[in-house]
Amino acid sequence: MQVLVIGAGVIGLAVARAAARRGHEVIVAEAAGAIGTGISSRNSEVMHGGMYYPTGSLRARHCVAGRRLLYAFCASHGVPHRKCGKLIVATDAAELDKIEALAAQGRANGVEGLELIGGNAAREMEPELSCIGALHSPETGIVDGHAYMLAMRGDLEDAGGAIAFNTPVTGASRTGGQWSVSFGGSDGGEFEFDAIVNCAGLSAQAVARTIADYPASRVPRQVLAKGNYFGFAGKPAFARLIYPTPMPGGLGVHVTLDLAGRMRFGPDVEWITREHYDVDPARAAIFYARIRTYWPGLPDGSLAPDYAGIRPKLTGPGEPAADFMIDAPAQHGLPGLVQMFGIESPGLTSSLSLAEEVAGYLES
Ligand SMILES: Cc1cc2nc3c(=O)[nH]c(=O)nc-3n(C[C@H](O)[C@H](O)[C@H](O)COP(=O)(O)OP(=O)(O)OC[C@H]3O[C@@H](n4cnc5c(N)ncnc54)[C@H](O)[C@@H]3O)c2cc1C
Repeated sequence: MQVLVIGAGVIGLAVARAAARRGHEVIVAEAAGAIGTGISSRNSEVMHGGMYYPTGSLRARHCVAGRRLLYAFCASHGVPHRKCGKLIVATDAAELDKIEALAAQGRANGVEGLELIGGNAAREMEPELSCIGALHSPETGIVDGHAYMLAMRGDLEDAGGAIAFNTPVTGASRTGGQWSVSFGGSDGGEFEFDAIVNCAGLSAQAVARTIADYPASRVPRQVLAKGNYFGFAGKPAFARLIYPTPMPGGLGVHVTLDLAGRMRFGPDVEWITREHYDVDPARAAIFYARIRTYWPGLPDGSLAPDYAGIRPKLTGPGEPAADFMIDAPAQHGLPGLVQMFGIESPGLTSSLSLAEEVAGYLES
C-alpha cells in the first residue's frame, strides 16, 4: 500500500517506520523543515514506568510495552539513554495513600520492580530528599529524544520510506477507492494514497477537519495544557528522577535530569487557549514552594525560566484525564484512515508500541 503519514514527530516517525518495515511504501509529510520540531522536542525525555494510567487503558498498555521496546531499540541503535530509576515521594499521610495506590495500579499494569520504601531508605538513595516514604521505580529512565527520532528516520529510509519537509497537508478526500491528498509548500499538489495516518500532534484536530469524508462530529475537543520548565544553575542534587505525587493535569513539578547530568524542574500545568511557549519568570515562586516540599535545600535564586511544551489534551481542568484516542477504520468506516488524537504523555515512551497497533489497522 502507499501510505501517507502526516507529521514527523516521534509518533509519525514510529508509525512510518513500522509501516515501511511491513513492506508498505511510506511517505511522511512534515509541515516544518526538520523532524521533531513540535511536542517531541519539548518534553521531559523520560521513559516512563507506566504506573499512572488506569489499568487496561491505551496509555497503560502502550507505556509498559513501549518502554520495553524503547530500551531494546536504544540498545540496538546506539541511542543515548540511562535507566536511572525514579522515586515518587510522599511528604504527608495523604500522599502515602497516593503512592500505595500508584504501586498497586502499576503492578496491575505490569510495571516491573516497583517497591514502596520508607523515608530513611529513600534518603539513603538520595540524601537531599525530604519525605516520609517513596515509591521506587527502577525501570524508569531518560533518553535522548532527538537521537531516537534520528535513528527511526534511518530505519524508515533503510526500508524505502521518505520524508517530505516543508510539505503541509491541506486536505484529503476519498475518490475512486483511494485518498486524494492536497499538499502546500513549493512541491505542493495533489497525490493519491491507499492509507493516511494523522500524527499531526497539536494540529491533529485541524488536519482531521480538512479530511472531507471524516465526520466533523468525530473530531474531539482539543484542550491545551502548557508545561513550563525551570533550569537549575548548580550541581545536580539527585542521581534519580524525583517526582511528587501527581497533580490534576500533570505528574507534578518534578526533577528531570538530562544525559549530560543537568537538573531541571517541571513541567507544571498552565491551561492556555493559544499556542505559545513563553515561560513567565513569575511562575518561579510556585516552583520554589512546590520543590521545597521534597527538597528543602533548594537555594534561593537558583531557578531560571527554561522552555515549555504543550500537552494536546482531550479534556480540561476538573475533568477526568482522557486516554489516547486512535480512530481507525473499524470505528469510523473509512478504509485506510487512522486518526491519532490526544497523544500527550507518555507518548514518547509509548511510540514504538502505538506504532505497531496503528500499522496493524492499515492492513485491516
Ligand atoms: C511538557 C511535556 C512533557 C512530556 N514529557 C514526556 C515524557 O517525559 N515522556 C513521554 O513518554 N512523553 C512525554 N510527553 C509526551 C510526548 O512528548 C508526546 O506524546 C509526543 O512528543 C507527541 O508526538 P507527536 O509526534 O504526536 O507530536 P509532534 O512532535 O508535535 O509532531 C507532530 C508533527 O506534525 C507536524 N504537522 C502539523 N500539522 C501538519 C500538517 N498539516 N501537515 C504536515 N505536518 C504537520 C508538526 O510540524 C509536527 O512536527 C510530554 C509532553 C509534554 C507537552
